[in-house]
Amino acid sequence: MNKFMVLVVEDDKLIQNLMATTLDIHNYRYLTASSASDALLQITSHNPDVIFLDLGLPDMDGVDLIRKIRTWSATPIIVISARSEDADKIEALDAGADDYLTKPFSVDELLARLRVTQRRLAASQGTLPSHIFENGDLKVDFAAGTAYLGGEELSLTPIEYRLLCLFCKNIGKTLTHTYLTDAIWGGTFDSDLASLRVFMASLRKKIEKDTTHPQYIQTRIGVGYRMNRV
Ligand code: CA
Repeated sequence: MNKFMVLVVEDDKLIQNLMATTLDIHNYRYLTASSASDALLQITSHNPDVIFLDLGLPDMDGVDLIRKIRTWSATPIIVISARSEDADKIEALDAGADDYLTKPFSVDELLARLRVTQRRLAASQGTLPSHIFENGDLKVDFAAGTAYLGGEELSLTPIEYRLLCLFCKNIGKTLTHTYLTDAIWGGTFDSDLASLRVFMASLRKKIEKDTTHPQYIQTRIGVGYRMNRV
């Protein structure tokens, strides 16, 4: 039995059953909740390892629920929602979600996201070599897992931080869309390219003074992105 415990927060019984069955087949432990109040109860009493969260819940907006959870818990939250606008995704990520999957999703995608989260949790328990990266006002302390801009600590989601690290470690090189989605999600589904765009937009909002004329990370249209030495 996989010790990993997933909380599925979803009021649509069909989708909730599909996710529960998928988790069960792959030997994950799981809990279900059909409302925000159910979810809060399950989180406080069972402390799950990861939360799958639908944004459209009967008693509270999912984004408000994320904010509430983040006041006391750092448990990874993967939003699974029918809202497909980039603005909705960015709002959920800003509120503290770790990752995003748009409905309809495939079971393989769901499992891929879960494996990445597991790997990240395992890696965060290991030790990293001490190394400080600096470029202009941007500074990353790889050992501490923190990034700074002009001396101020940046509040980055885990995926934004990993993206930033990839660019820092490959400064001056163009990283293709495929390279990035593979490094972050372990594969390249069509939806990963859309997610990459969302995460790049939210990362840029945090590190660039003017996102329409980015200083640090340049877009190579149709190819990928590159961090410039400034
Ligand atoms: Ca719903």
